[in-house]
Amino acid sequence: MSGQDERGEGRQAIRKLAPGRIVIASHNAGKVREIAELLGPYGIEPVSAGELDLPEPEETGTTFVANAELKALQAADLSGLPALADDSGLCVDALGGDPGIFSARWAGEAKDFDLAMRLVEDRLGEEPGSPRDAHFVCALALAWPDGHVEWFEGRVDGTLVWPPRGANGFGYDAMFLPIDGTETFGEMEPAAKHAVSHRADAFRQLVDAVL
Ligand code: IMP
Repeated sequence: MSGQDERGEGRQAIRKLAPGRIVIASHNAGKVREIAELLGPYGIEPVSAGELDLPEPEETGTTFVANAELKALQAADLSGLPALADDSGLCVDALGGDPGIFSARWAGEAKDFDLAMRLVEDRLGEEPGSPRDAHFVCALALAWPDGHVEWFEGRVDGTLVWPPRGANGFGYDAMFLPIDGTETFGEMEPAAKHAVSHRADAFRQLVDAVL
């Protein structure tokens, strides 16, 4: 997916990321740590948006890429440094791609993903016999202070199981069985999930293109 932008236009020459500081436009400490580990070997020094006291913009985009882009652009503009942001979620075919960009919001204020998974299952139950195909998406956007953006979209396909299985992972992991797999993301060891996940796919694309 990284070869075209959302308007279907061809990608311009890819801009490379020089070694040095970049902002990770996320206030999630776990995410910042994971990204720092991935980029450390390339001489990239991640600084978190929290450390720089950057505000969290409202996610007003209608796609994963648009939301990642707006977060990265704002952080690059305010910090004067290149900035990396991500946006991810679960898309269920029979639900027209829902919860999609609203994946976090389906868990409510309490971030209750048992509730969010049940909501997905209940909605699927309203469409008896419908296929249970689903995929996770992870969009990454890398923005520079002059407004240039490179973006990448990773994906992993699978099917939804009920009841949920496994206590590893987070979010919708326990109901997601990756294609050709026997364990849900919630049952898999973290390293096994990271080898096949939508996030790993997006990072592989980013590393190949800009580093
Ligand atoms: P965000 O990208 O931090 O906005 O997260 C979006 C939401 O998508 C998360 O809160 C999770 O509910 C869901 N999500 C994204 N990636 C995963 C994953 O790898 N496993 C399970 N849920 C995920």
